[in-house]
Amino acid sequence: MVAVVLPSTVLVALGVQLMRQERELAIQQAANERRLVVSQARQTLFAKLEQVQREVFEARTGDTPGFGSTAFPETALVLATQINDGVLRLPWMPDRRAELGRTSLRTEPFARRVARGKRAEFVGGDAARAIELYEDALAGAQDSIQAAYARLLLARALGKSGRRDEAISQNQRLLALPPHVTDEVGIPIALFAAGRLLDELDGGRAVIEKLGTIVNEQRWRSPAEAYMLRDLLDEASTTHGSSERQTVVDLQQRIGSEIAVIERVIDLRNELPGLGLRFGGTLEDTYGSRWIRWGDDWLVGSTPIHDDAWGIVAFSIRQLLALAPALPNWPGAAEMIIADATEPNAASEPLDPAIAEVRIAVLDDALPGSGAAVRRRGFYVGALLLVLSVTLFGAYLFWLDVRRELRMGELRTLFVSSVSHELKTPLTAIRMFAERLQLKKQPDPKMQTEYLATIVGESERLTRLLNNVLDLSKIEQAQKRYRQDPVELADVVDRTVRAIGYPLARGGFTLNVDVDGHPPRVHGDADALEQALLNLLSNAMKYSGENREIDLRLFVQNGAAVIEVSDRGVGIPTAVQERLTEKFYRVPTAENERIPGTGLGLALVHHAVEAHGGHLTIQSAEGEGSTFAIHLPLETR
Ligand code: ADP
Repeated sequence: MVAVVLPSTVLVALGVQLMRQERELAIQQAANERRLVVSQARQTLFAKLEQVQREVFEARTGDTPGFGSTAFPETALVLATQINDGVLRLPWMPDRRAELGRTSLRTEPFARRVARGKRAEFVGGDAARAIELYEDALAGAQDSIQAAYARLLLARALGKSGRRDEAISQNQRLLALPPHVTDEVGIPIALFAAGRLLDELDGGRAVIEKLGTIVNEQRWRSPAEAYMLRDLLDEASTTHGSSERQTVVDLQQRIGSEIAVIERVIDLRNELPGLGLRFGGTLEDTYGSRWIRWGDDWLVGSTPIHDDAWGIVAFSIRQLLALAPALPNWPGAAEMIIADATEPNAASEPLDPAIAEVRIAVLDDALPGSGAAVRRRGFYVGALLLVLSVTLFGAYLFWLDVRRELRMGELRTLFVSSVSHELKTPLTAIRMFAERLQLKKQPDPKMQTEYLATIVGESERLTRLLNNVLDLSKIEQAQKRYRQDPVELADVVDRTVRAIGYPLARGGFTLNVDVDGHPPRVHGDADALEQALLNLLSNAMKYSGENREIDLRLFVQNGAAVIEVSDRGVGIPTAVQERLTEKFYRVPTAENERIPGTGLGLALVHHAVEAHGGHLTIQSAEGEGSTFAIHLPLETR
């Protein structure tokens, strides 16, 4: 018990220990992999951001107005602009359209003509005169800006002097102007016309189309223009019918978010000095970019463009969350999230120490090692079970062995008592008849002969029994030797029949002996064969039950000599037939218990026959009798 339980317990303990270590290792490995995933995600993201940053500043041409957010819409870039002397350059500055407008409108003689018209209109209050002067200016206009501006003034004066239709038609012409025709602050002249037409409740669809065209222009616009667009759209939304309403609402939304961005850019410019970004030094003493999270949704970074020139970019974090997984080297197990930085989250790490709320979450299931860990654990459990079952199987075999030993011990005890019992019967008989002869109580010579025959028969039985026991001990010590002489089997049969004659006669048995015409010869030990046949015959007698007939045949079959003993007695159950040749084995039935026996006879027969190169066969049916046959190879002459 201890021999099995102890090693098994040690094994299980070792296995559990191994698995615990394995799990700790797996946890450590997972942590490593997680760190790796996070750093790969970080690298991928920042490499991409810095690449965009580089490209955006390389693509920039010296004075491109308002470059930036529109150049790389697919990268979540919201702003890219330069820092001049530590001050953020507003992306809509300098305004090239405003500059053109200023230059054109200040050119003489146009400027003088316009000034005169304005004097007549406002100081003199003479609208008709003003109209004439504005028409002059229009006629003398040298470019489209001058023409547009003169027409704008003319339309106003026409309106003032009650010439409403003419004013409307002039304004409609102005509405058709392209957006880049602006006044000296950069506001498209068409927008002023649009405002007037809205006031006149006229030209609804054309006005809204124009507003749409301007809103949809991909460029940074100045706050002044953006606010004007918002006011015009607000007005349009109150004055126009349902057909245009949806368009107006969409445009309002767009300009609304544009204004929000513009205002954030202005805020950023004001807050920039306090944000801790770097804008100084040369390319040599700095490396890479700096990133901070500004406001809710902006990731702002500064970078040197070239010596003494620094740029700043802003990305929309919300858009980055959506774009990150599509980046070429983005690890599959990583996910960018926004989380509350005050709640430490084991499954995620900050994107950057300075950007604690933007985090990289790692999906443990997608880690490359997670499958291997599970497989390894399965292997250990399997190996442990295997070792355990082998141990238990060994224990089972051991138990079987112990049980057999115990049974052997039992059988030996039984054997001793059976032998004593068997010895007692013939000894008692011998002694009884010898005493009778001694006392001469029986003078009848016939009876005397019978007494002597009994004594001889019983002592033969004793001899047989002792021979069996001696044979057994020789066999067990591997000292049993069989002689190797030519043997006439008919002689063996003859002698055996004579030897068993007395007990047969006493038991009232009939023995039918049938010896083949050409009695076979074999090679071997005649005494051993006789002893074997005696055992078979005495078994036939013992287990004949009520029947009193026994057959003994000697013949040749398939090139072998066969000695066959058949009875018509109790028979043997098929299930135990195989065990009959085991030492000490006796069929465990109640009847058998009453028949004296040692369980040795057949074991010895089996041994002797096998030693002669032959074999023993048993045919039996319960209640019908048994046939035991000794098969021996014929002597080759
Ligand atoms: P023993 O006869 O001393 O018990 P054996 O080895 O000769 O031992 O026989 C083993 C057992 O085989 C017997 O106990 C008996 O149950 C059974 N047996 C042997 N011969 C016969 C037979 N001819 N008919 C029925 N049972 C037999």
